[in-house]
Amino acid sequence: MTTTGDIVGDIAARLEEVQERIDAACERAGRAPSSVTLVAVTKTHPAEVVRTLLDLGIYDIGENRVDEMVAKMADVTGARWHFVGRLQSNKARDVVGRAVVVHSVDRASLARALSRRAEGEGVPQRVLLQVNVGDDPGKGGCRPEDALDLLEGIRELPHLAVEGLMTIPPLPSAREDPAEAARPHFATLRELRDAARERWPEVVHLSMGMSADFEAAVGEGATIVRVGTALLGPRPTGPG
Ligand SMILES: *Cc1c(COP(=O)(O)O)cnc(C)c1O
Repeated sequence: MTTTGDIVGDIAARLEEVQERIDAACERAGRAPSSVTLVAVTKTHPAEVVRTLLDLGIYDIGENRVDEMVAKMADVTGARWHFVGRLQSNKARDVVGRAVVVHSVDRASLARALSRRAEGEGVPQRVLLQVNVGDDPGKGGCRPEDALDLLEGIRELPHLAVEGLMTIPPLPSAREDPAEAARPHFATLRELRDAARERWPEVVHLSMGMSADFEAAVGEGATIVRVGTALLGPRPTGPG
């Protein structure tokens, strides 16, 4: 049985380590640490964990399931919620205006649904285009060769602001070093972002890097890293 004190201490210690590793990766890459936003991915963890992160000064919180995000939002105030999971168009209404950034837009129909829902919000919904850079059939995201055309179409929608790209690289094989396996995929996303930004200067963000590979992602230009396990420990299993 873990007490609240243990949870806070454990997360505080891991957070310090993750932040040091991000800072060191920035230094190696000649980047300012302030150019990388750490999103703490709290999926499957209870609301108490989110409150602990807020107390520790981490306000950017990632969730990958709509119902879970909505439930936690009812329990926690003060977080900036990032939606990072697969999204069905019929759930667009639950995400728009709640998530500061939707990282996982990967098709025109979903973008249209989000834009329609955002019409009444008064401010555009900020989104990222998810690209399946490794052509991994198990992952969401558009094909890399379709990304720029899709981006161009999504930019036309009146109530969305497309601010960058996101990816989840394929799972490495057991023999591979996960960071080194992911690095070329991160580089591909950066090249796509650079091509997009030449035409559309507002396309700046690269949401890439998770617990196993966030330093490599920072080295390749990530502006947002999404970290769960390295901050919070193994995810609880079981219902919810
Ligand atoms: C779960 C998840 C993460 C965090 O994964 P860890 O390996 O626990 O750091 C990042 N991004 C997305 C989209 C996720 O679903």
